[in-house]
Amino acid sequence: MRPPLIALTPRGLYCAAGDFYIDPSRAVDTAIVTHAHSDHARRGSRKYLCNDASIGLLKARLGQAIQVEGIPYGKVFRLGEVEVSLHSAGHILGSAQVRVQLGSEVWVASGDYKRDPDPSCAPFESVACDTFITEATFGTPKYAWAKDRNHGRDIHEWWKTNAGQGFNSLLFGYSLGKAQRILAELAPHALQPVYIHDSIVEPTRCYREQGIRLAETVTMSGPDSALSSGTSSYSGELFLAPPSILKTDWLKKLGRFRTAFASGWMQGSSSGYQGTYDHGFVISDHADWGDLNRTIQETGAHRVFVQHREGALIRHLKNRKQGGQRIEAYSADELSPELYERIEPVNLSLL
Ligand SMILES: [Zn+2]
Ligand SMILES: [Zn+2]
Repeated sequence: MRPPLIALTPRGLYCAAGDFYIDPSRAVDTAIVTHAHSDHARRGSRKYLCNDASIGLLKARLGQAIQVEGIPYGKVFRLGEVEVSLHSAGHILGSAQVRVQLGSEVWVASGDYKRDPDPSCAPFESVACDTFITEATFGTPKYAWAKDRNHGRDIHEWWKTNAGQGFNSLLFGYSLGKAQRILAELAPHALQPVYIHDSIVEPTRCYREQGIRLAETVTMSGPDSALSSGTSSYSGELFLAPPSILKTDWLKKLGRFRTAFASGWMQGSSSGYQGTYDHGFVISDHADWGDLNRTIQETGAHRVFVQHREGALIRHLKNRKQGGQRIEAYSADELSPELYERIEPVNLSLL
């Protein structure tokens, strides 16, 4: 019985023919890292491979001393018996899908991805394959983003409205990726600097180093900041911070403020997520339901393995056809060698 070209193991996705892991959960010998988010990039591996735009972010997260090799999108390289290439995932700066070819068999592992325009990273690239391992963070039909929003203008308007009413604006977004996307979206609109939380400073520097145009920023705890002295004389400013600061008493220093959260989870939540925020901006760095399905269609894959929130998407795919053939859809759990044995005979007829 032939094992899956990319198997699910206790350390994560593993390609035995090339002897490498993709986003391993523990230390391994060779790790291909799709992007620098903490649930994908983990410490301790001997050697890391990633897109070249991701090197700075990876070092910032894992330490400057890691052994890391940057590979441009589209460049084919060999690991063991397989040919590998990285392709833009449009998720954050340097995010990559991993294409693996053995003989005529092609698999693609998507990592996190999105199709919406994002001025802070390269656009998603559709990659043809036989077997597609897709994320599905927002894999239910209720997640469908409006595609025609100008997020920079919307956020700027919210900021200015709050300022006009005597409020500061406190916008929450994750420190890596979302924060820089917001700064890139704001760049054409912002006429004054945006205050950024300390956790956002280093990733923002990495983006600038890669030539991404971002709105001007000031560090909240920097020497110019009144926050360092413990008194607030701010009025009409925009502060960008990770949602985790909600639990700190840091907020007391901000004077009067209104809050908003920028996230796909804001979908269907016009007054802020469960009342936690004054406002919600539906800005997601993951594909929505329509884009998950569009992407699967564009790959031409006959077999799809779904990671995260798989239920609804798998049920939906089982009723669809790709090139006249029904799509086989499974949870990524089925990529574990024991479970995969059950499905392999069916799939050989398709490859
Ligand atoms: Zn991610
Ligand atoms: Zn992720």
